[in-house]
Amino acid sequence: MVPFSRRDILALGAAGGAAVVATAAQAASFGNPDSPAQGAINANPAGLSDPGPKNPALESQFPSFQTPPATDVGDMPLFWASFNNAPKRIQNGGWARQVTQADFAISEAVSGVNMRLGPGGIRELHWHLAAEWGYMTNGRCRVTVLDPKGRAYVQDVKEGDLWYFPAGYPHSLQGLGSDGCEFLIVFDQGMASEYNTTLVTDWIAHTPPEILALNFGVPADVFKSIPLRDLWIFQGKEPGPLDADQAAVAAGGAPPNPFTWQLGETPPIKETRSGTLRLADSMSFRVSTTIASVVETVKPGAMRELHWHPNADEWQYWIKGEGRMGVFDAGPRAQTADFKAGDIGYVKKNQGHYIQNTGTTDLQFLAIFKTPEYQEIGLSDWLTHTPAALVAQHLNIDPAVLAKFPSNQPGLVPA
Ligand code: MN
Ligand code: MN
Repeated sequence: MVPFSRRDILALGAAGGAAVVATAAQAASFGNPDSPAQGAINANPAGLSDPGPKNPALESQFPSFQTPPATDVGDMPLFWASFNNAPKRIQNGGWARQVTQADFAISEAVSGVNMRLGPGGIRELHWHLAAEWGYMTNGRCRVTVLDPKGRAYVQDVKEGDLWYFPAGYPHSLQGLGSDGCEFLIVFDQGMASEYNTTLVTDWIAHTPPEILALNFGVPADVFKSIPLRDLWIFQGKEPGPLDADQAAVAAGGAPPNPFTWQLGETPPIKETRSGTLRLADSMSFRVSTTIASVVETVKPGAMRELHWHPNADEWQYWIKGEGRMGVFDAGPRAQTADFKAGDIGYVKKNQGHYIQNTGTTDLQFLAIFKTPEYQEIGLSDWLTHTPAALVAQHLNIDPAVLAKFPSNQPGLVPA
């Protein structure tokens, strides 16, 4: 048994005195390590009020910024962003909005786009300098893509489905049915913009007519009616049956792996009474060589366990429900932020974090990693797979109690 330390005594004191009045000199107590002495518990209450200009509606969205937990400390780059305050580019046929590293400095690995295509709305034939990963949140969409060996792929996707187009592979998207679709796009470069892409109309309009005639083996006046400004998103006609479109492009052969994937129907890699984790990385969704993704559902009152990712930053798209995320880094630095549907979170590689459902409904978010293979290490897994006597000397916790920590990587707790 480890002798009682000053820390033990302080911890017992804090546990016994729940109604601690905020005064100065509360530093270094359980739940408030305070080095440096930051946080309301160290402050004269007269200095805690906030009489200045404010927007109460906006302020109310960020309780953890207004009143940080006493364990928060130090500075950390802002890891909260949102599509909710991103301007929409609206055109006939649909709209899009984006958050790139230009708007969100920490987001070095990926950028994000939220797009809607109405019934028949077409995102014109184009390609990118970055790879594109997509996740359907509403409706149905038809995707087309061509690989460098001339093998075409056409497929319809629905809510919960993914696509992946490697950098430079030309593709298109079109909303289907009476309500079209909405989806998330992630590019595997933080500065990639959906507003600056290589478009078929731009190229044709900016190529001399005699070159077009020579290239396609037809008279130049074939091209006299081409659009002189790009279409980007435009209103199209509902396409015909999927099998007819697939048959029309089948001559080049089929690509070796599908460019779409049903993530929503993939068996969970983790399932507890607290929720599920579903994974798609290049081990399963083989074409997705630069993006791994996990769709995470956390039940009310439950939490995504303390963990980190050794091989990639985590970019999050919050789909439904609400929660808070605490992020830990060397320094020490610890910061907590609140998230709701349409928000974006970011955790740098190797920073510890947890995500707690703070609402009354299921929380669901997507976690995106720029890596071929998903990796995670859990704090509980680490502490239960290290000799107990060694851990006990670090934390002053009885080895018999350590043995009760989850040792099976539950992912979601309570397990
Ligand atoms: Mn694209
Ligand atoms: Mn994570």
